[in-house]
Amino acid sequence: MPTVAEIFETMVYGPAPESRDPARAWLDGHGRELQLFINGTWVAPQSGQYLETRSPADNQPLARVAAAGPADVDAAVAAARAAFPAWSALPGHARARYLYAIARQVQKQARLLAVLESLDNGKSIRETRDIDIPLVARHFYYHAGWAQLMASELAGYVSLGVVGQIIPWNFPLLMLAWKIAPALAMGNTVVLKPAKFTPLTALAFAEIVQAAGLPPGVVNILTGDAGQVGDTLVRHPDVDKIAFTGSTDVGRSLRRATAGSGKRLSLELGGKSPFIVFDDADLDSVVEGVVDAIWFNQGQVCCAGSRLLVQETIAEPLYAKLRERMEKLRVGDSLDKAIDIGAIVGPVQLETIRGLVQQGVDEGATLWQPSWACPTEGCYFPPSLFTNVAPAATIAQVEIFGPVLVAMTFRTPSEAVALANNTRYGLAASVWSDNLNLALDIARRVKAGTVWVNSTNLFDAAAGFGGYRESGFGREGGREGLYEYVRPAWDERVGSMQYAVGSDDAVGSRQYAVGSDDAVGSRQYAVGSDESDGRRQAAVGSEDGVGSSTQNSKLKTQNSKLKTQPAFPPIDRTPKLYIGGKQARPDSGYSRPVYGPEGHLLGEVGEGNRKDIRNAVEAAHKAAGWADSTGHSRAQILYYIAENLAARAAEFAARLVASTGQAPEQAGAEVEASIDRLFTYAAWADKYDGQVHHTPIRNVTIAMPEAIGVIGIACPHEHPLLGCVALVAPAIAMGNTVVVIPSEPHPLSATDLYQVFDTSDLPAGVVNIVTGARELLTRVLAEHDDVDALWYFGTAAGSTLVEEASAGNMKRTWVNYGHPRAWHDPVQGAGPEFLREATQVKNIWVPYGE
Ligand code: NAD
Repeated sequence: MPTVAEIFETMVYGPAPESRDPARAWLDGHGRELQLFINGTWVAPQSGQYLETRSPADNQPLARVAAAGPADVDAAVAAARAAFPAWSALPGHARARYLYAIARQVQKQARLLAVLESLDNGKSIRETRDIDIPLVARHFYYHAGWAQLMASELAGYVSLGVVGQIIPWNFPLLMLAWKIAPALAMGNTVVLKPAKFTPLTALAFAEIVQAAGLPPGVVNILTGDAGQVGDTLVRHPDVDKIAFTGSTDVGRSLRRATAGSGKRLSLELGGKSPFIVFDDADLDSVVEGVVDAIWFNQGQVCCAGSRLLVQETIAEPLYAKLRERMEKLRVGDSLDKAIDIGAIVGPVQLETIRGLVQQGVDEGATLWQPSWACPTEGCYFPPSLFTNVAPAATIAQVEIFGPVLVAMTFRTPSEAVALANNTRYGLAASVWSDNLNLALDIARRVKAGTVWVNSTNLFDAAAGFGGYRESGFGREGGREGLYEYVRPAWDERVGSMQYAVGSDDAVGSRQYAVGSDDAVGSRQYAVGSDESDGRRQAAVGSEDGVGSSTQNSKLKTQNSKLKTQPAFPPIDRTPKLYIGGKQARPDSGYSRPVYGPEGHLLGEVGEGNRKDIRNAVEAAHKAAGWADSTGHSRAQILYYIAENLAARAAEFAARLVASTGQAPEQAGAEVEASIDRLFTYAAWADKYDGQVHHTPIRNVTIAMPEAIGVIGIACPHEHPLLGCVALVAPAIAMGNTVVVIPSEPHPLSATDLYQVFDTSDLPAGVVNIVTGARELLTRVLAEHDDVDALWYFGTAAGSTLVEEASAGNMKRTWVNYGHPRAWHDPVQGAGPEFLREATQVKNIWVPYGE
């Protein structure tokens, strides 16, 4: 025991233990054996099996917890299904009262929850008491508000149904709140699976649900292991959505497991977030920031600032300050209020961290750890700093999920951005500089869902959270998070069983066999000699008809002429592919025939292949500057495209009549609707704004919708012009560049569009068109790692393919499962849904005050 004089000299803290009594009493009250929570009551697992949960701080057992099996999953899903109609039909105000009651209960039980969480997870009581549990309550309050406002603020949207939710162990109760609060607010019922390491607070939450008087079946909690519970839940046919937080590898397997099922999916996955420090930053604040970034929760944080990127001139002074601070950090028992770093969640995770740290040393990086030793009982790892790290080193690329910081240097802002984005993830970033202009510019250029300026690891229910790239898709929190739990009221397809099959079947009598190159058709044509290019005669509609008041009547006359001449127009052109603003011959050298409704040959289009798609993706990336152009400029170009399409309306209508056999009036209406869509998205280009969130910390939190990047678009076979324009226009209006696969049977309207683009100042590479076998080309896009999102409107089988094959780089997908969409309808064929699909929200936190 040190003397007072010694303590005065060394300023060493003594232990300041929080009492474990509330948790002990709660566990004893359950006989140290916890059951499943199904349909509002505690139920023993049908297998009769239990798992043990231990405290990682001292390796002592805490309780036995039921191991659910498939039969329990069935029972929980059935309970949630039975509860859904009444729960979703409740007025929003009634649901708001329940959520408010939950929030109040969380506050009343805060001490129990904080102690239980610290015991079960090993994280420090200061964090659970001051951060996790208050944020849990805040989440329920915030979403009580959205339940109240749903009818007015989300008019036209309805609840999804039964939601399966799977959460990790690093913020057990907070992740539960992030999942359950929005789901319930939007009228869904849930079956939640906590992580095997940390089941206790979810079970304590079940009691809160009971105390708040929620109807049975609205919330069900199933403990157990991933294979028995998680996998069964994911594949369950009566689950309408899966919301998952966890590792990227498991997220990827879930993407594949749910592909084609029609289940909605949101994935919050891993990260390797950059912490970027410029030479004008206040280094003392930076050091405290780093402590919060990588030693908060032992570094077991998905958005941990695990890559320290420092401007070269200040690297050594910063490292010196950091080492000094690390020497003073305290590692120990999670219930000790005087510790900085608690225990690692379990031996398996500890081994993973040790293995990766060893690999860092083996690969030549320099490891520094404080001189003191960690406690020997329990799962502990010291705070660690790696310097001299190559950007491609394993420890610079792989998520370690432990208290390990990896430092690298940069010279210029652009180098900082390049290093920051040199990762497959895109969850968060932190930027430190006293130059706000510079910090905000970096925030804009870093690919991450959340960017903290001169701060780190700030969270609030009002600010959406979620990733770019392999950090997953979907957002939790904020208004944007609500859309993960609703669907447009017109869209009947929820769940896996309810799809009308194949809108494409309705497209004429010709079926296009796809799936192999051989299926492309026996007739292949060597592409266009110059001679054939020369034969460009507009089928109908000369320029002089344009804009005149008699345009419509001329169109009608021309169209009725067309009707009586089914063989018209002759084979007059072989449009090429359109890549990087230029017409390009297909790599294959072949073209494919295009037939009219009566089977007569209308023309030929290029037979695109893998190489053409790759070229188109490259061209689309080169045009990335489009995202930086102003909404105003993009709007002007969209208006110009509309103007030029209007100028050739008659010609486009005639083309539609000739290729689809639709009535001239319908064709005219399709052209008009396409012009209308272009106006709609020109209008939105400078109006789809972000928000400033009221986060209850001294921050301006700016939520900016950003372009996703390169979007692949596989157009529907039906409505070959409108289907294409309705998808391309919102995508480019929001700053994306696109690779378009036009309607396979009727590609000519889309290829005619490139002449319109050429005369409308659209920069090269913003829109690229590759004709050919839609499903084959779609697969190439789905598997392409440089495509950021893929939209597909075709068959159920094609939709499955897109979801499965896109799991490689976890690109965002938007598919129709073969379900038709009324493209003419302004609700189904246009509007906010399209804009949301074309953007991702970045939340930038900017603190204020001295
Ligand atoms: P994990 O992926 O191993 O497990 C997460 C959950 O999924 C657990 O409940 C687990 O039992 C379950 N699971 C595992 N395999 C499954 C399967 N095949 N089918 C269904 N369910 C399955 O992740 P973890 O180790 O618990 O958590 C750490 C990971 O979570 C890290 O990668 C971290 O970055 C990530 N994370 C992300 C966020 C975020 O918001 N993006 C937040 C916290 C943690």
